[in-house]
Amino acid sequence: MKIEENVYALESTKGSYAYLVEDKETILIDTGRPGKVKNILKEIESLNIKPENLKHILLTHHDVDRIGNAALLQKETGATLWASKEDIPYILGDKGRPGVKKLGSLFMRFMRVKTPEKIKSYNDHNIDDIEIIPTPGHTPGHVSFLYKDILFAGDLVRNSNGVLKKPPAITNADEESIKESILKMSNILLNGFAQIMENL
Ligand SMILES: [Zn+2]
Repeated sequence: MKIEENVYALESTKGSYAYLVEDKETILIDTGRPGKVKNILKEIESLNIKPENLKHILLTHHDVDRIGNAALLQKETGATLWASKEDIPYILGDKGRPGVKKLGSLFMRFMRVKTPEKIKSYNDHNIDDIEIIPTPGHTPGHVSFLYKDILFAGDLVRNSNGVLKKPPAITNADEESIKESILKMSNILLNGFAQIMENL
């Protein structure tokens, strides 16, 4: 699904979308739930993009529905995989996911999801024309991406029938930080986040 010129939501990851951005380089944002590698690669090719031209894979956070195909996509395409330094230990399995997110780790094991071999930390660098904005709370190192006028907000907010809402407390690592992150984002964007701010 084309969102804007050179920006696509990949149908093969429907339910927890991965996005493809064709800027100076080709960039994938998040990778969807496990088990979709073949379909993702097929869809990328259908957009007339060679999978080996994928240069970067950017993760918003460590949850299973974001990192599900990261390791295999990295292997198949040779892309550089990026995440925040706070979330990398959870992706590599060096830190256990807390609370309800433990179920995600069990699911990963059950599905035999591979662990990525190498992840680079954003370390405040932007990638191509994509601005990386730290928005911790849902996970310790959750980040959002701003590309032109498109915000890729990961799980900073969720869309409930067209209304932006904070993700349920049970899914968040730190309620106070996610609220601060939403307020910070509203200051950056100046509009669009008004509804949710009333409900914080
Ligand atoms: Zn999440």
